[in-house]
Amino acid sequence: MKKRVAIIGAGPAGLMAAEVLTRYDYDVHVYEQKPSAARKFLMAGKTGLNISHAEPVAQFIQRYDQADWLAAWIKQWDANWIQQWMKDLGIESYIGSSCRVFPVEMKAAPLLRAWLKRLVEHGVIFHYRHQCLKLSSSELQFKNLIKEQVETQQFDAIVMACGAVSWSQLGSDGAWQQWLSQDEIEAFQASNAGVERTWSKFMQPVFGQPLKRVEAWVEGQAKTMGDIVISHYGLESGLIYKQGRALRQQVKNGQTMQLYLDLIPDQTVEQLAQKLKPSKKQSLSNVWRKAGLDHAKASLVRELVAKDLWNDPLALAQQVKHLAIALTGFRPIEEAISCAGGIKRDVLSEQLQLKSNPYVFCCGEMLDWDAPTGGYLLTACFATGRAAGEGVHDYLAAKIEQGKF
Ligand SMILES: Cc1cc2nc3c(=O)[nH]c(=O)nc-3n(C[C@H](O)[C@H](O)[C@H](O)COP(=O)(O)OP(=O)(O)OC[C@H]3O[C@@H](n4cnc5c(N)ncnc54)[C@H](O)[C@@H]3O)c2cc1C
Repeated sequence: MKKRVAIIGAGPAGLMAAEVLTRYDYDVHVYEQKPSAARKFLMAGKTGLNISHAEPVAQFIQRYDQADWLAAWIKQWDANWIQQWMKDLGIESYIGSSCRVFPVEMKAAPLLRAWLKRLVEHGVIFHYRHQCLKLSSSELQFKNLIKEQVETQQFDAIVMACGAVSWSQLGSDGAWQQWLSQDEIEAFQASNAGVERTWSKFMQPVFGQPLKRVEAWVEGQAKTMGDIVISHYGLESGLIYKQGRALRQQVKNGQTMQLYLDLIPDQTVEQLAQKLKPSKKQSLSNVWRKAGLDHAKASLVRELVAKDLWNDPLALAQQVKHLAIALTGFRPIEEAISCAGGIKRDVLSEQLQLKSNPYVFCCGEMLDWDAPTGGYLLTACFATGRAAGEGVHDYLAAKIEQGKF
């Protein structure tokens, strides 16, 4: 009798676990509550699927908050491996100028189509519109959403690959949290999300405008360079996401969330002060513009810097290069590109097996790791999916060998 493995969730992590298991002789069933697979993966491909990052692996690993946990898996299934894997599926990829890896066609759909086709050819059985309601020991209770029927089934091993809790309309609704005990899960928080601040009405004309080539940092942390978009709710962009972990730490420490910006990083305070000297021949706005403060940057300065400093070039230059922005929080988790928090490392074995239930292995974004955007999220979902698949096989093979079935 073939051993039966259930995978809950047809996202990138679950599909990767399934792929590993097709190398062995198991009945692999993927249960997905949505009518089709990997909706979040497809969404990620809408603006260009940044599937991995080609920086040196030692640097790559440091992007994760749980670097030492993920290191061995990421090293094994790194960007090179992902590019070769895509190639085997007939999808060419390229490395962009910022070392980000993309499929040449940019979209996720052709890759997903080829991947699902291969999985089906290798015997994986997909059950769409099947919502897992309950997990206890080796038993799963499902609701068949087409027939509106509830059924219970027994498996030899189960992979939980249900995702985190953002963009729940794509399937990752976090309902699985009730199957575990509270202390097995680190509470989810928004990651790679915009930050909030209430602006005065004077900021309205620059909503949607970018602050170009600025440096951002949180006190005591490294500076990062890039663009930030001013929005009606606060600030948004990849540069903001990079500061997310440090900002979350401030909240955890009971501090006010405070971000610093250098609006003109390529000039020293002295050089800038020289350019900001008031002139009788020019309006203040003109002086500021010529010094490098375009409309968006000048509006931010007017919003945040006390008016009595506007005509003091040295004090103003100091502010422009060290602008403090108090923030009130993150955008709601539902809007976040990813989530920090999830199933804790210490409740899992080194093969991602749940210590409280040896039938169950966990992978993907539902685990307690965090990383910025840039291909790091999908790389870790793939790698932990493979690790969970290997874990299932080792577990079942050992049981077979010991005659425990
Ligand atoms: C807008 C956006 C853009 C992104 N862009 C990128 C990017 O460019 N690069 C990158 O690296 N990452 C990106 N990400 C993040 C990436 O898509 C996720 O990290 C990844 O999809 C998580 O994979 P996963 O398999 O762990 O979970 P998911 O992709 O969330 O899949 C989980 C699956 O489990 C199913 N499920 C959940 N509960 C049940 C249940 N009870 N029963 C049955 N099925 C269930 C869900 O329906 C879902 O299909 C982006 C995310 C978003 C939202």
